[in-house]
Amino acid sequence: MRLLRMILVLCLLLPVALPARASETAAEHAANVYAQQELDAAPRDGNIPDYSLPPDKLAKAVHLNTVRDTMHFADELWGIVSLLLLLGFGAVAWMRNVAVGRGTNRWLQGFVFILLFNIASTLLELPVDLYSQHLSLKYGLSVQSWGSWFSDQGKSFVLGLMVLDLVMMLLFWVIRKFPRRWWFAFWLCTIPLVLLAIFVSPYINLLYDKFEPLQKTNPELVAQLEKIVEKGHMNIPPERMFLMKASAKVTTLNAYVTGFGSSKRVVVWDTSLQKGTPDEVLFIFGHESGHYVLNHIVIGVVEAIAGLFVVLFLGYYFVQIMITRFGRRWGVASQNDWAAFAVLLLAFSVFGLISEPITNGLSRMDEHAADVYGQEAIHGLVADPQTTAKDAFDVLGETSLVDPNPNQFIEFWTYNHPAVGRRAAFAKAYDPWASGMEPKYFKK
Ligand SMILES: [Zn+2]
Repeated sequence: MRLLRMILVLCLLLPVALPARASETAAEHAANVYAQQELDAAPRDGNIPDYSLPPDKLAKAVHLNTVRDTMHFADELWGIVSLLLLLGFGAVAWMRNVAVGRGTNRWLQGFVFILLFNIASTLLELPVDLYSQHLSLKYGLSVQSWGSWFSDQGKSFVLGLMVLDLVMMLLFWVIRKFPRRWWFAFWLCTIPLVLLAIFVSPYINLLYDKFEPLQKTNPELVAQLEKIVEKGHMNIPPERMFLMKASAKVTTLNAYVTGFGSSKRVVVWDTSLQKGTPDEVLFIFGHESGHYVLNHIVIGVVEAIAGLFVVLFLGYYFVQIMITRFGRRWGVASQNDWAAFAVLLLAFSVFGLISEPITNGLSRMDEHAADVYGQEAIHGLVADPQTTAKDAFDVLGETSLVDPNPNQFIEFWTYNHPAVGRRAAFAKAYDPWASGMEPKYFKK
């Protein structure tokens, strides 16, 4: 009963928490309405007034979009189907038998099981990953050689193996200690693990890409960016700003905020500096500093922990029901069986598919808030913030071959950022400095 009450409280908090984050000012509301009307009035998969592509690029963008959307859902379903096949054909039970046959050392058993399982999952995922990279090369979004690509895959395999092994050993220890409440005990363990994962992510990135202090390569740019930092009363010292050599692998642009505590930093891709004007780069940085100031990493951590609470609670019951129902057929004896790990992953895949619009909806809210922040932050620093922001989205969309007016249901379900066309139209119309309007984050 105590559990039910806790879940009830969480469910009741959700409708209170969401509107608090979604509250919009009058200027924001007007620009959102303008953007929605612009998208509704334009043809589906066609150009819109505030973000348009030349005919050849438009055709490529629409085709790429259709393939990517199909692959997105196919990949998610394949994740579930492939686990069912591995369980149904007894492959997971075979891996368990091989692992247990190595002797009584649990660390060795666990490692052998997760190694075999990780090899099988990687091979089953490989065709989709290969095709995705092939598409990026074909459309000029990637310039990475296959050798370098396979090297990245190898690093991810080893890293994934190490993390999965440790997490699985912890999980099975908790299951043995608390057979009926392991989902709650394990959830408590995941809290420091989530924090640790975010803390180390900037260091993990070093394995894949090269980074340089922005101050060393672009001191004039840092001086410009410092103006935004000052305006927002932020605490981003220049040594927390990095330039990533993305051009070695891709042609698209990006920037992001990552890390936690002393590892927290802003990263700008070198492609953004090559393709954007200085004003547009200032806006991109304004957007990223919005994530920094509005504490989106902390909010993301809290959401991830809350999500894990629900998923582990439901996962516990999913595992019990599935083992009772299919355990004999799959060769999974109990929740203490190494093979039960695959059943729990199956639960995560199913819940991930169902909860996708919720997690993406929350992410889009943060991205929208960062857009508003970025545009307000560059007010007074660039001649025309609206045009600057709109042009930045045009460049972003064109370099990544983004469909100007995609299906709005697909946007709702699968996009973790608002559609680029929507962002460009919003930027064009957003003017909190007009008479009768109020900025959201910077007082007039
Ligand atoms: Zn963002």
